[in-house]
Amino acid sequence: MSIDTIHEERNIFADAIKRLDLAIEHADIHAEALEKLKHPKAVLEVSIPVRMDDGSLKVFTGYRVRHDNTRGPTKGGIRYHPDVSLDEVKALAFWMTFKCAVVGLPFGGGKGGVIVNPKELSPLELQRLSRGFIDQIADFIGPEVDIPAPDVYTNAMIMGWMADEYSTIQRQWTPAVITGKPIPLGGSLGRDDATGRGAYYCIKELERHKSWNPSDITVAVQGFGNAGQYVAKLLHADGYNIVAVSDSRGGIYRPNGFDVPSLMKFKNESRQLKAVYCEGQLCNLIEAETISNEQLLELDVDILIPAAMENQITESNAHDIKAKVIVEVANGPITFDADEILNANDALVIPDILANAGGVTVSYFEWTQNKQGFYWPLEDVHDRLQTIMAREFNTIYDIHLEKQVDMRSAAYAHALSRLGDAISALGTQDYFENGSGS
Ligand code: NAD
Repeated sequence: MSIDTIHEERNIFADAIKRLDLAIEHADIHAEALEKLKHPKAVLEVSIPVRMDDGSLKVFTGYRVRHDNTRGPTKGGIRYHPDVSLDEVKALAFWMTFKCAVVGLPFGGGKGGVIVNPKELSPLELQRLSRGFIDQIADFIGPEVDIPAPDVYTNAMIMGWMADEYSTIQRQWTPAVITGKPIPLGGSLGRDDATGRGAYYCIKELERHKSWNPSDITVAVQGFGNAGQYVAKLLHADGYNIVAVSDSRGGIYRPNGFDVPSLMKFKNESRQLKAVYCEGQLCNLIEAETISNEQLLELDVDILIPAAMENQITESNAHDIKAKVIVEVANGPITFDADEILNANDALVIPDILANAGGVTVSYFEWTQNKQGFYWPLEDVHDRLQTIMAREFNTIYDIHLEKQVDMRSAAYAHALSRLGDAISALGTQDYFENGSGS
């Protein structure tokens, strides 16, 4: 097991599709459509030979999976992590299909991953690997086929290299092949904080329903990376108390709350998570408890935000989770069995396919802008993102209340009805046998 993760070995794709069987009870969808969604459309495994700085050759393994493209080209990030597996990439692609349907984007789901610890590579090795991966998958992706984006341990610069490599292969500038690019290379304003911001808009809607006073609410965030930092920053700016945060090395806890911009400044400049308060350029250490990632999850807080990796809340620790609201900013942080325990304990889980959909939504905006060659101001990105997130959150919240089901089943039911309509519109057995029905 790598130094970086604590997640257990399990069949994550099989776990992911189990959710369908629960949601089907609440969605009007043809059995054939459901069957189709249980299988990825296409799976590609590639070997990427990379010349290392010391002159040696290393061969990395990468995957790209296209899960379903009934509603449009497949879309989803590329992850660099030592624990990447085909099973994980299939699950992540499956979630992308549902995520795009939840927020009504004209995309299906895809995902990619390379088995690598990017922290062990030099910047030049990382660049060769990223360009090499695109060389291997170039026939499998494209602006109207499959559109990658960043995920864990990949960033805007890597997306820029990948778009450049693809454009070189195609002999034409093709920015819409990939999203999450740097702004000067056709990126969208507002993509950097889109995932955290989308989760924040969901929490703001819940705040309205529950009439919360933000200053009474405590929050713990597991994973202080791109997504986790921004949701923490936006909540902190509204007066929420961010009392704990962590990264792969562990966490810090302070009952009075942290100044999130100080933590971000220090983490992004030094790559270390430390309890600090910064004034101008000067950062001073402040008192805080050092905790493990496991302890962070079990803190007595109002909102728990897992924003790191999959399988963090399992049947072995679900009984010890005290937060009554859990916002899944990471993909798949709660296992199927843990979900049942949390539901029985009346925890409200805002599921990943809704909570972290802000990222793919602004990726969609970026793709749209690339295709139009017309770029939007930041306010337009924020307004359109808020409109979509609030609309879909409230639709799902209403299903949750009306059908008395958990938010995850409500979100799957909502996505399934959009996916089912699209799959049925191509004709099902009833239509081909009888010329009618859906
Ligand atoms: P990132 O690489 O920027 O950050 C990941 C953070 O998690 C890092 O701080 C890392 O140190 C920490 N981490 C890694 N393993 C950990 C562990 N076992 N315990 C605690 N912390 C750990 O990645 P990101 O883009 O912020 O992605 C985080 C999660 O959000 C992933 O599940 C990803 O799939 C999901 N997500 C990201 C986006 C996006 O746009 N970035 C969109 C949708 C979903």
